Amino acid sequence: MSEKSRICIVGGGFGGLYTALRLSEFPWQNGAKPEITLIDKSDRFLFSPLLYELITEEMQSWEIAPPFAEILANTGVMFQQGSVTDIDIEAKKVTVDGDITIDYDKLVLATGGKTPVDIVPGAKEYALPFRSLNDAFRLQEELRLLEEANHDKIRVAVVGGGYSGVELACKLAARLGEKGRIRIIERGEQILKDSPDFNRETAIEALEKNHIWQDLETEVAQLEAQSISLEYKGQTDVIPVDLVLWTVGNQISELVTKLPLEQNEKGLLKIEPNLLVKGRDDVYAIGDVADCYDAEGNPVPATAQVAFQQSDYCAWNLWASATNRPLLSFRYQPLGEMMTLGVDNATISGLGIKLDGSMAYIARRLIYLYRLPTLKHQLTVGLNWITQPLVELLSS
Ligand SMILES: Cc1cc2nc3c(=O)[nH]c(=O)nc-3n(C[C@H](O)[C@H](O)[C@H](O)COP(=O)(O)OP(=O)(O)OC[C@H]3O[C@@H](n4cnc5c(N)ncnc54)[C@H](O)[C@@H]3O)c2cc1C
Repeated sequence: MSEKSRICIVGGGFGGLYTALRLSEFPWQNGAKPEITLIDKSDRFLFSPLLYELITEEMQSWEIAPPFAEILANTGVMFQQGSVTDIDIEAKKVTVDGDITIDYDKLVLATGGKTPVDIVPGAKEYALPFRSLNDAFRLQEELRLLEEANHDKIRVAVVGGGYSGVELACKLAARLGEKGRIRIIERGEQILKDSPDFNRETAIEALEKNHIWQDLETEVAQLEAQSISLEYKGQTDVIPVDLVLWTVGNQISELVTKLPLEQNEKGLLKIEPNLLVKGRDDVYAIGDVADCYDAEGNPVPATAQVAFQQSDYCAWNLWASATNRPLLSFRYQPLGEMMTLGVDNATISGLGIKLDGSMAYIARRLIYLYRLPTLKHQLTVGLNWITQPLVELLSS
């Protein structure tokens, strides 16, 4: 058995990857540095807030999804690519792809959520989720086929009027231009119901300017190959559609829900303020998989911002417990919200700042550039943003 203590992090998203990076930076005493293993089913980290930029080809996949091997080079963190198929909490073992076993002393669960596309009949067959890099590639391909088919209009329905639905609709409008006929379907009375007023108002303006129709107080009843059935105040309309994008819901994987750990009714893991799973001193849960509350007792949102902030506390607490220091309680600090609203428009609201238009677009890009993992990747992407317009000019 290894003498070093072993930390295993399952899921290399905003929670897991940034925990691994922070952990590797701590001043471990000689020989005390634990073996840190990060496991992810993908070979790449995905910076999901910039996933929309692939639709308009404003960014390339290497910019928003760098390989783990590159990010973790020279950090001492070991990367294991594979799908975690089982976790034995009592024996402290993680099984990858059914046959690789990794023993641990401390475990971090950061597997995020998935978009459930089996909520209404036909959704599984005909709706596309928009969460992973593969989802974005599939959407690009569907759009390419529709564009080549030379339809008079390309009819797209985006289900969900939250951040994802609105951002996606605006990018689709920017890509399809006059050819696009886009609608957002929202069951509530308004889009972005939990967002700051400024962001909502700016977004509504952008939707109107781009001729994106809003179906409010409307539920999706059923999907078929070329149509969507919508229910509005007891009346059902069947609308022809070429593409349906599903952006609502956050489902926890069976890997997590089957664990003998305390969960809420949605399957989120119940945690202590120090991010340890209730009743355990060896399992942490962070990000979209954790049932976490702010200082006022309100649930924190399932966002990258939360997962990113939790990763700091999680890494600190892992280090603190290894070096006999007290653990810290997580304190969520809302830093504001940003949205992209097309190719030269965005909205930012928070910390006393309200910004829209192209200034917000540039500020959002720069803030995300700063948040990309590792200085090396930030510099490579930043340099590309500076040189790309020049290259395009010279090659035109
Ligand atoms: C399109 C889109 C845009 C978004 N925009 C914003 C935004 O602007 N601002 C914001 O704050 N939040 C945004 N979010 C939400 C944000 O991305 C999530 O809240 C955040 O990623 C959660 O972090 P996480 O670490 O919990 O999970 P994730 O980042 O989802 O990472 C989970 C990781 O676990 C891996 N994994 C899952 N199951 C297994 C398994 N069995 N075995 C191995 N690996 C596994 C996955 O491959 C993934 O890499 C957006 C989300 C999407 C989809």
